[in-house]
Amino acid sequence: MYQKMKGTYDVLPTESGKWHALEKAIRNVSKLYNYKEIRTPIIEYTELFHRSVGESTDIVSKETYDFIDRGKRSNTLRPEGTAGVVRSYIENKLYADKLPVQKVYYVGPMFRYERPQKGRYRQFMQFGAEAFGSSSPQLDAEIIAYAVSVLKALKIKDVTVRLNSLGDHDSKAAYKDALMVHLKPSITELCHDCQTRYETNPLRILDCKIDNNHPVLVEAPKPMDYLTEEDANHFDAVCDYLDAMNIDYVIDKNLVRGLDYYTHTVFEVEAHLETLGAQNVICGGGRYDHLVKSLGGPEVPGVGFAFGLERLLFALESIQFKGDPQYLHLFLMILGEEQKADGMAMLNRCRLGGLFADIDFMDRGMKGKWKQVEHHNARFVAIYGANEKANNKINIKDQQSGEEVTISKHQLYNHIVAELMKPSHACTSCEADSCDDCEE
Ligand code: ATP
Ligand code: MG
Repeated sequence: MYQKMKGTYDVLPTESGKWHALEKAIRNVSKLYNYKEIRTPIIEYTELFHRSVGESTDIVSKETYDFIDRGKRSNTLRPEGTAGVVRSYIENKLYADKLPVQKVYYVGPMFRYERPQKGRYRQFMQFGAEAFGSSSPQLDAEIIAYAVSVLKALKIKDVTVRLNSLGDHDSKAAYKDALMVHLKPSITELCHDCQTRYETNPLRILDCKIDNNHPVLVEAPKPMDYLTEEDANHFDAVCDYLDAMNIDYVIDKNLVRGLDYYTHTVFEVEAHLETLGAQNVICGGGRYDHLVKSLGGPEVPGVGFAFGLERLLFALESIQFKGDPQYLHLFLMILGEEQKADGMAMLNRCRLGGLFADIDFMDRGMKGKWKQVEHHNARFVAIYGANEKANNKINIKDQQSGEEVTISKHQLYNHIVAELMKPSHACTSCEADSCDDCEE
């Protein structure tokens, strides 16, 4: 028996409703913030990720799926979404568009060769957003508000937004110097990777999963304390806008995030829910003012975030999120070989009219057919046999009310639609079908 690759998973038909509901919420909130969907390829040339994500990051140094294609070029399955979106932004000259600020979002699979565990996979889904064209702190605040609104729409409450600023070039350079001076005497006490990072990219040391509690890191200088006045003002403005929007956050001076391209604001959203286990960071993001330029585009600033959708679904488990309900409007029971052609025609008419409808394809007996009705959660069951054919009638039962009626077979579709249009709840106070007074 073939097995799925390690670190991957199947979304079975019974589970896809949850994914649809999640994606629907994402798309709805994206509309509110005026972000439009962008779809870029899952594979890109390897250089793109080396250049954007950064050579010394865990993602590029240890986690990418790379392969040489038949044309002898090195390709990589995208480990994250920003690089491809920026590549597309430049290649399609979106910076020259009539709209000075381009706001896009994406939903799709990402690939990282990681040690699989709950909330950590080798193929996983991300929903991310990117806004290009403005360095205004309003946009940093908007992107955080957008991420928080997605969680609100999904009714995920117990979350913390952690926020920090790395500043721009000058702040980052001053901080890097201070950090190197601080680490130098104790560098040999840190892990092997950190010793390499000291040479290649010392900021990455703060993001080390092994040494993060080592006293030399706990006591290390913080980027926030090395911000130029201008960069500090940018950060203060982001905080002011968040305060104005009543968005809660905490400032986490240790937050640096795992990608090289960030400048100014970086943030993460952590959910405090048992169903998440150790992987409780559901969203990460920040500003990247020089990424477009470093990938060959003009000097255009950007800011974005990415959510891990599996982790969002784990968070949703704790609030008994059911997803889109799965049901049929009609299950048509066709009895007898001679009724099949007619039955198929009726079924197809109902479907074309917009009803979710199905039949039994296995010629099961009545018991087997009723089992399928239950399984499919069908609202109406219509029985079409030799008698019905002879009399042009059809028997139809409403599984919700238990009512059964016999109608002209040509009325099947109209009857169901009319019944579906009726208010679904009778008023429990006065027992009328619908009741404005009791508001039920
Ligand atoms: P982590 O610290 O958990 O490895 P990260 O910093 O590598 O996360 P990002 O690159 O910022 O993650 O990706 C954004 C979000 O994507 C994460 O917050 C997380 O929710 C999700 N994510 C990242 N890697 C994985 C993975 N291997 N499996 C599932 N979700 C993931
Ligand atoms: Mg990671």
